[in-house]
Amino acid sequence: MIMLDERITGTQVAYYMVCKRKLWFFTKGIEMENSNDSVIIGKVISQEAFKREKYREVVIGETIKVDFIRIGKEIVVHEVKKSRKMEEAHIWQVKFYMYSLRKFGVPVNMGIIHYPKIMKKMEVTFDSEDEKKIEESLSQINLIKNLEFPPAVINKPFCKNCAYYELCYV
Ligand code: SF4
Repeated sequence: MIMLDERITGTQVAYYMVCKRKLWFFTKGIEMENSNDSVIIGKVISQEAFKREKYREVVIGETIKVDFIRIGKEIVVHEVKKSRKMEEAHIWQVKFYMYSLRKFGVPVNMGIIHYPKIMKKMEVTFDSEDEKKIEESLSQINLIKNLEFPPAVINKPFCKNCAYYELCYV
């Protein structure tokens, strides 16, 4: 059982799904994303698109921040993204938020990922298999965080758009 005080964030879960080397750089405090234009654009989209939401930037525990939550007949977690390029990572980031809220006793079964630039959204559900996969991922993330050296480069097409490209290929 993973406790939520191990300082794992949604970004770390997303990076774990995309690239374990990227996760390692990020957890060592090498945050080149801040100077990456596309990431800044993503943050602006996230802040502007749903600024009238009542429950925005909801903090879970010490390290997790959800873009917004809607509370109606059920509680739904919402995450805003710039593009669908890393959709699988986005899905697991939202599942991690749902997992975390459930660990705090909040009954969340639904998440929605918004892609306002292309006017699309995607529903994300959560089941017991997801819980197992999240807990395995959290164990792996803790192992990667403690590695002395970064995992190998992955040579994927999306590497050329990664903020850490120069640390891997130049
Ligand atoms: S450039 Fe590729 S290998 Fe390097 S951190 Fe980014 S995704 Fe990983």
